[in-house]
Amino acid sequence: MRGHEQTADAIERLAAAFATARRPVAFTGAGVSTESGIPDFRSPGGVWSRFDPREFTWQNFVGSVEGRRRYWALGRVTYPLIRSAAPGAVHVALAELHRLGRLDCCITQNIDDLHQRGGLPAEAVVELHGNATRARCLSCGTGYARDALHARLEAGVDVPDCDGCGGIVKPHTILFGEALSPAAVEEARRRAGAADLFVVLGSSLVVHPAAYVPVHAKRAGATLAIVNLEPTPLDGEADLVIRAAAGPVMAAVLDAVRTASLTTQGG
Ligand SMILES: [Zn+2]
Repeated sequence: MRGHEQTADAIERLAAAFATARRPVAFTGAGVSTESGIPDFRSPGGVWSRFDPREFTWQNFVGSVEGRRRYWALGRVTYPLIRSAAPGAVHVALAELHRLGRLDCCITQNIDDLHQRGGLPAEAVVELHGNATRARCLSCGTGYARDALHARLEAGVDVPDCDGCGGIVKPHTILFGEALSPAAVEEARRRAGAADLFVVLGSSLVVHPAAYVPVHAKRAGATLAIVNLEPTPLDGEADLVIRAAAGPVMAAVLDAVRTASLTTQGG
């Protein structure tokens, strides 16, 4: 019971922080995707136990047709899981907080497009690891919808190349051994540095360099809150730690922020 009371208190503090911050920024990780039913591909029993993750590197993808064939065989299994997932409580709460003027943006490690599908405008989503629903030709830059590429895989094509130039088509996601987009990293640093409230949701903060973003926010003066089921290496530096699933916490935060804003309008 004591744990519940502590969590309720902490949720109240988090809601008050969202209601009063000038520039709140959220940061989401894999926990937010798993709450929407997307399996954590790196967990035991996950897809990686049927595929060897060391094979799925940038070098193997651009280096050989065989590397791309293996990549697309994996993608044919994983992409439908991403596509059929629905936005969860965190996605919905962040979109609504943004609509209420209570969220600057969400910086995400997730590639599933669920923040946008949950109603957060694309310009308020900073995707550190890319977005699995889009792809492009590495030679001529032509963009492709992943749905269309997936349909080609389902029709028996094992490596979908560029229609225009025959070049290598690569999903807009970061592979092992591939650098993050400098533009995305810079945008994340800028938004984190300007935040006065920085809220980590469903991330264990162990994947670098993404995990550095909350550190940057904290050092630039933001209040740091961490909502995650497991301990994180940054818990000691955080102003508020809630060890719980992010979905129910953010649903309660949204309720409290809505109530507070109604009271303010009424008074
Ligand atoms: Zn091309």
